[in-house]
Amino acid sequence: MKLLSIKECDLHEKKVFIRCDFNVPMDEFGNITDDRRIRSALSTIKYCLDQECAIILGSHFGRPKAGVFSEEDSLSPVVRRLQQLLKMDVTLARDVVGEDAKKRAHELKSGEILVLENLRFEKGETKNDPEFSAALASLAEVYINDAFGVSHRAHASVEGITQHFDREHKAAGFLLLKEIEFFDTLLENPARPFAAIVGGSKVSGKLEALVNLLPRVDKILIGGGMAFTFLKAMGYDVGKSLVEDDLIGEAGNIMEEAKRLGVKLYLPVDVVAAETFSADATSRTVSAQEIPTGWMGLDIGLASVELYGEVLEDVKTILWNGPMGVYEMERFAKGSNKIAHFLAQADATTVVGGGDTADLVQRIGLDEEMTFISTGGGASLELLEGKVLPGVKPLMK
Ligand code: AMP
Repeated sequence: MKLLSIKECDLHEKKVFIRCDFNVPMDEFGNITDDRRIRSALSTIKYCLDQECAIILGSHFGRPKAGVFSEEDSLSPVVRRLQQLLKMDVTLARDVVGEDAKKRAHELKSGEILVLENLRFEKGETKNDPEFSAALASLAEVYINDAFGVSHRAHASVEGITQHFDREHKAAGFLLLKEIEFFDTLLENPARPFAAIVGGSKVSGKLEALVNLLPRVDKILIGGGMAFTFLKAMGYDVGKSLVEDDLIGEAGNIMEEAKRLGVKLYLPVDVVAAETFSADATSRTVSAQEIPTGWMGLDIGLASVELYGEVLEDVKTILWNGPMGVYEMERFAKGSNKIAHFLAQADATTVVGGGDTADLVQRIGLDEEMTFISTGGGASLELLEGKVLPGVKPLMK
């Protein structure tokens, strides 16, 4: 998929609106606990500074009540961090497309940066409202989308706004280009053998991705809660483990289809089973066929980890989306952590889908060891499902 690239845009001395994803996690005191999303936007911002643009940045943050300003959802902590990272003044408008933003955008000079207030303070943002899109577009001469994490949303700053710029005046920023390129290569031209590790809570959340991945991969390794619907489809008694009964047939179909395509599909051979769903539950590792009645599988066991490690030994590309267990509880995080270590040491291109999987890899400090970690959970999943993202479509060549 070829996108209109920021490199092909004439940006010199233009007023440029960059849609960023500054939706960073914060603690209760308003401190940013992980600024990866802000740092990911820097290459596009710095490039625009080099082109001597006047830069207007827009982002959503948190889930504010639409139409109302709230101090706790203000982008001011993000602006402070941007100032530190860029070592320059960055101004925050008091509103999004109100009098203050309009005046400041109008007066903005080349080499200066203005950040609009949280886009979701405006009702029109998530509704993709044409009037709001037009008001936002009127602030700038060029539109750049660098917010991969929200590009699966048809929101005003992501989709509606693009209708107000012709092909010469809109493009993807470096982060968006990189994300799309990685997933494109992964799905269309991966180095083989290609293995996908798919986990997470439910089959329903990953079904479309599994169906789209099957004809593209050589091996598929299943873990997490979703494994139990597959195990049940094989006739195992999985106790109280997470099972979607209505998808047992679908899980069976996927296993059949894998066989037909010559794709090797692996399921956990042992699991860490617990009496209750809690961090201090009584637990023990059992064979996947011998989960005690009333117990639930909350992680893959050591034998599965070893099996998966062997299976991954000869592969050249590994995609990982979804944890192997309830990684939020230390006792059930071992399977995911060990898989993360396999990837860190693998002699392969390793791509980690966003969301929980990116979170757990970061938690154990292995993020630098991966070839690529996506900045978007929902957006990357939709790419794996084979969808064209609404924020990406208008930027396609
Ligand atoms: P997802 O959003 O579908 O990728 O799922 C991520 C969630 O799956 C995490 O919050 C995990 O705690 C959860 N999860 C992983 N394994 C299990 C399991 N065996 N039982 C219940 N939940 C699980």
